[in-house]
Amino acid sequence: MVIEIMTELENLKKEWESIFSCMGCGECGFAINPMVGIDLTCPVKEALGEEAFEIHFSRGRMSVLKSILEGSIPLSKELAEFVYQCTECGNCTETCHQSDENVVLNISKWIDHCKVWNALRKDLVDAGFAPLERHESLIEWMNNENMKNPYGEQQVKKYEWISAFPNIKEKGELIFFGGCTMPLRQENTLKNMMKILQVAGIEVAVSRDEWCCGSIGLRIGKSGEEIIKRNVDLLNKMGAKTVFTACAGCYRTLKKDYPEILGEELPFEVKHITEILIDLLNNDKIPFKPPEDEELKVTYHDPCHLGRHMDFYEIPRNVIEKIPSVKLIEMKRNRNHAWCCGAGGGVKSQYPDMAKDISKERIKEAIESGADILTTSCPFCIGNLKDAYDEMGQEVKEKIFLIDIIDLIASKI
Ligand code: SF4
Ligand code: SF4
Repeated sequence: MVIEIMTELENLKKEWESIFSCMGCGECGFAINPMVGIDLTCPVKEALGEEAFEIHFSRGRMSVLKSILEGSIPLSKELAEFVYQCTECGNCTETCHQSDENVVLNISKWIDHCKVWNALRKDLVDAGFAPLERHESLIEWMNNENMKNPYGEQQVKKYEWISAFPNIKEKGELIFFGGCTMPLRQENTLKNMMKILQVAGIEVAVSRDEWCCGSIGLRIGKSGEEIIKRNVDLLNKMGAKTVFTACAGCYRTLKKDYPEILGEELPFEVKHITEILIDLLNNDKIPFKPPEDEELKVTYHDPCHLGRHMDFYEIPRNVIEKIPSVKLIEMKRNRNHAWCCGAGGGVKSQYPDMAKDISKERIKEAIESGADILTTSCPFCIGNLKDAYDEMGQEVKEKIFLIDIIDLIASKI
């Protein structure tokens, strides 16, 4: 068969091998293979229930992409409305790659689904059918000199928390990259993180002029090169040897996207806050209160940008296990099989109700695990889980408490 590929689809063309490797088995939507199970399909398809179409999950989207590459379906605004209903959680990759040789050919193991979804988004942006309305505002605000964040807040607001820590310097070898969500939406968690670091004797430098890491723009399909160069230049001038962040989205973007887009290694190391915390805990640098009689059962939600996107599963768990009077227990779906919180890929801003529905499912699963506390290590996950939690009624609040891993540690010192 000769496949004629359209010439203007610059990004999708590069992914043609992935796209044509899809065998159409449907495991990513229907869990035909018992090994996979319905619990591991697509969170968007499950949230939409009977309203879900084929294009809402991987098999249908791959099928449409084959037709687009062959020139029988054009890119369009209508298509964009469907394809942005995807959190880019990467669960379809895990499901697809679990196919055994009796069900589909191993060829499906070549597919990097999120790379394909992102290529499609870039081509939709290039063709003028995206960004969608709400995404357009986020990108405008993120690139606005007076804001530099996708929340539309004045830049100065991002640094209000620093007034509580007058000794924080603007230059140093260890730099905290604050991102936008935690300083603008979870200021208390950020203050708790600084208190923990200070009590452990760690000195960090913080810029007062960071740009958003660019994650939301990249997930939506916009090029973020200018912002990336500005941030790398800024961190270099600050004297960075190690840059750490408390946000899973910033972590993936700095550590994976920045070097890929710039085409070179970064001149500094990028770490997640839990890597800093585990070092402190291993060296007994965090002075905890004496253990309590009652042990709290804590379950950990793997943020997609840490887990599936970066293969970063164990360090946050090691941190939790080191907290006194705490017992780590797992939800049914954990690590590479974790259910998404529903917020990623621009879903939270464009389809907020769907994002909350997916989080509600995750909270129910945390309750089923028997945990007293649901924790995670990403302010974006916390924000969406909290929005869902707030809508879930008293009965849920009596069963489980939601808290960032940083606040959990802070409550014990
Ligand atoms: S990335 Fe997640 S939300 Fe998107 S199609 Fe795959 S499983 Fe569904
Ligand atoms: S599981 Fe993989 S091969 Fe099967 S339909 Fe989904 S994307 Fe295609």
